[in-house]
Amino acid sequence: MKRYKKLAVFGGTFSPVHNGHLLALRAYAETVRPDVLYIIPTAVPPHKKREDDATDAERLAMLRIAIEPLDLPCEIVVSDMEIARGGKSYTVDTVEILLRIADEVVIYCGTDMLLTLDGWYAYERLLHMVTVAYMQREDDGRYAVEIAEKVQQLTKTCGARFIALPPLSVEISSSAIRDSVRQGKDISMFVPEGVASYIRREGLYR
Ligand code: ATP
Repeated sequence: MKRYKKLAVFGGTFSPVHNGHLLALRAYAETVRPDVLYIIPTAVPPHKKREDDATDAERLAMLRIAIEPLDLPCEIVVSDMEIARGGKSYTVDTVEILLRIADEVVIYCGTDMLLTLDGWYAYERLLHMVTVAYMQREDDGRYAVEIAEKVQQLTKTCGARFIALPPLSVEISSSAIRDSVRQGKDISMFVPEGVASYIRREGLYR
């Protein structure tokens, strides 16, 4: 089995994958410089209720369409490991498996996720195993103090290691895209063309 020195994880619901994810992925890969980037759609997100109507297979298909033209400075794997495992997708379980093929694992968090990190299942164990690369999301500038405090607190109490990625401030979220589709609005500036066509063709999010 292939072994990597540094493996970076980008997990999410990706319903659908959008340009915010893709820009964040590039900044993440260029800053962290992993040997391989694992993009892992979650099966049942423990942190948020599923309200979308895209199936696991459709989310994976959209990811593959979006990733195909990307030219990143590392190998890219779109992994169905959490979907195939089924049940709740706990990051700690995924990282434990990935540490069998990598010396070091880094995980990505937008600041919305970072602020909830100490509510994640077995987060102390998780933080002993990974470095967390985080990026300030569009609306999260107003939480700058909370974010700095959270980073400081988790560094002190759990020995957590963080990397701050340069913020992009792209105001795009999957939920806003799903709302736009429901309202019949144009989403072509928020997702790659191939993903927009897939959503149209399959009649998703209506
Ligand atoms: P939803 O609107 O349904 O909550 P989302 O747009 O937040 O979805 P997810 O698939 O849940 O998308 O996000 C996966 C990861 O990507 C999370 O860590 C999230 O914070 C991050 N992320 C999503 N959108 C952006 C963005 N515009 N800029 C930076 N990070 C982002």
